[in-house]
Amino acid sequence: MNQEPTKIVLREDEMPRQWYNIQADLPTPLPPPLGLDGSPIKPEDLARVFPMNIIEQEVSTERWITIPEPVQDILKLWRPSPLYRAKRLEKALGTPAKIYYKNEGVSPAGSHKPNTAIAQAYYNKEFGIKYLTTETGAGQWGSALAMSCKLIGIECKVFMVRISFDHKPFRKIMMKTWGADCIPSPSPMTNIGRKILAEQPDTPGSLGIAISEAIELAVEREDTRYALGSVLNHVMLHQSIIGLEAKKQFEKISAYPDIVIGCAGGGSNFAGISFPFLYDKIHGKDIRVIATEPEACPTLTRGPYVYDAGDVAKMTPLLAMHSLGHGFIPPAIHAGGLRYHGMAPLVSHVLHNGLIEATALPQTECYEAALLFAHTEGFIPAPETSHAIAQTIREARHAKEEGKEKVILMNWSGHGLMDLQGYDAYMSGKLEDYPLPEELLKQSLAAIKDHPKP
Ligand SMILES: *Cc1c(COP(=O)(O)O)cnc(C)c1O
Repeated sequence: MNQEPTKIVLREDEMPRQWYNIQADLPTPLPPPLGLDGSPIKPEDLARVFPMNIIEQEVSTERWITIPEPVQDILKLWRPSPLYRAKRLEKALGTPAKIYYKNEGVSPAGSHKPNTAIAQAYYNKEFGIKYLTTETGAGQWGSALAMSCKLIGIECKVFMVRISFDHKPFRKIMMKTWGADCIPSPSPMTNIGRKILAEQPDTPGSLGIAISEAIELAVEREDTRYALGSVLNHVMLHQSIIGLEAKKQFEKISAYPDIVIGCAGGGSNFAGISFPFLYDKIHGKDIRVIATEPEACPTLTRGPYVYDAGDVAKMTPLLAMHSLGHGFIPPAIHAGGLRYHGMAPLVSHVLHNGLIEATALPQTECYEAALLFAHTEGFIPAPETSHAIAQTIREARHAKEEGKEKVILMNWSGHGLMDLQGYDAYMSGKLEDYPLPEELLKQSLAAIKDHPKP
């Protein structure tokens, strides 16, 4: 084994003090969100849902935005996160490629999500908000926001999709441990929840219903707002700290990646690692950037670029994004965080502009990759993260065939210690691949065929 460091660490005083906003450098401007009547919405239209200081960030085109000191202080509990060289994985693959991974699993909640949760809790508190509401499916976002609200000092209510609430008790306990109120959705607390419960008392719930409940509660109280863990521009902004740190870490070893890879659900961890590198690409650097998704929920690779709503009830504005249709019911794959029907407008836009590539992977290949990673590097990745690992392995094998010493960077978005059921299913041979059937995709897209095109 060579003498290069296994992990490249930054000192706390080297942590970036500003976020990078790619909106300053886009080759063409981002298409604006539209109201349901098809005309662009105004920032004030969002004021009942989000605090104004966050709305300002959402629409900002400033390249650099200062990270408030109190947010920096809290981020330092786990940041700067280490950049690892996956020497043992390289050896197992017999590849000349150099593989690096940015370990975002070191945060208290176990993923990259606290990077934005801390910032969002902070801005809401600054704005005088006392309660934040949100939804969670598998529970990763709910636990990140619960932890952040506790550290910042505001109350947090999480609507958790009923079926996950019943089947994933540990995430629920994490949220409770951090003092959040975790409510199974649909709930009797909201009009929409009561209506659905009256009609279907045994419903398993859905992310769409949970979002509608969280927004309903937020808009009816002056001291309450809603928080979203991915998709929106300000979330991509807050996650840019990942890629900014990675660039400094590469500088320390006088290296630079040829390929940057991240898995994409709503797009935030992918944007976080890649947008600071896209800045270089936009300014002439030769670099490949790849977003990977499950073939069961192929938003970037098979969903059209259209205006679509962010939730089933169409409570959100229409966003220009790759979408499988807001009524899309994702198959029950284990990578719960990659099952969203849409994709961040910024990630969709850079794909549309040809700045990035996208691939869709079968889940058994991803679990196989996750096991090889755990067997060589030790860490057990989240099922979502395994999609980035599988793509990295594909690229490393390709480098071997070509005999090229490619430098590959992947975002290791989180650990899988709260999601071991998927591993159990895979290791006992119960998992099968499920490419999304064309028929289902057609049905889902039929509902949005008249939506405007960006
Ligand atoms: C939520 C989550 C994802 C997917 O969300 P993005 O917004 O696309 O990053 C990926 N990995 C982990 C570990 C997650 O918790």
